[in-house]
Amino acid sequence: MADKLNGRIALVTGASRGIGYFIAKQLAAEGAHVIAVARTVGGLEELDDEIQAAGGTATLVPLDLTDMAAIDQLGGAIHERWGKLDILVANAGVLGVLAPLGHIEAKTFEKTMSINVNATWRMIRTVDPLLRMSDAGRAVYLSSGAAHSTKAYWGLYAASKAAGEAMIRSWANETVNTPLRVNSVNPGATRTAMRALAMPGEDPDTLPRPADVAAKILPLLYPEVTRTGQLFDVPQNRFLSYRVPE
Ligand code: NDP
Repeated sequence: MADKLNGRIALVTGASRGIGYFIAKQLAAEGAHVIAVARTVGGLEELDDEIQAAGGTATLVPLDLTDMAAIDQLGGAIHERWGKLDILVANAGVLGVLAPLGHIEAKTFEKTMSINVNATWRMIRTVDPLLRMSDAGRAVYLSSGAAHSTKAYWGLYAASKAAGEAMIRSWANETVNTPLRVNSVNPGATRTAMRALAMPGEDPDTLPRPADVAAKILPLLYPEVTRTGQLFDVPQNRFLSYRVPE
């Protein structure tokens, strides 16, 4: 086990599968204690087994991110147990539906925005004071190329990801005079359940594995990070935007 993140407490949403699973696993391998959030207990338990087998530690939090009251309680619970939070990975997300805007059911629109936008904000709100307490607080939001695309039928998902990125830019400027550093990431097309749902005709073997994508995201969570309010593009392996804090 490496020890780059020894003693750090890291919360990862959507840790039961896909990109979030591997970010959580790799954070634990670097020495962080991982608070793993998702609905699927089986996926969380598998993660826990893998982390323990590698000598790491995790706390499993089975939680539905549509339950805003439960999100609100997380900050207090983390403060009581660990007294701080060093890392937030706001990774959980859903595709909603790919359809013309005029054909999307209100229920689907609202649920997608609730998970991708409202829950992200509620998570930020509950952990913001804890991250500010850390001497090297780091947050990463999993965005998408869709946030900047103009593709037909992707409007719902694109709007939700653009909203998330906007929050992150603003949060970065709110915290620019603290040690906290917050950035967005576009992971690019990745071999996960979400991608298969979006592109059912695609051969998954042609896509990068979530473990490899997670490994490119991990350095954004290290204490030495100085950038904030920016967007890291995994396929291009570089920051796409540099926004001087206003
Ligand atoms: P997956 O569908 O594989 O995993 C999504 C994760 O989010 C799961 O752990 C799931 O857990 C969790 N989640 C979904 N809904 C809820 C909910 N209501 N409550 C709690 N947890 C929930 O997605 P990916 O790994 O592909 O995507 C991760 C992130 O990366 C997403 O934000 C996505 O938008 C983004 N992204 C992915 C791309 C790709 O090609 N894969 C491309 C661009 C961006 P559970 O179901 O157990 O609750």
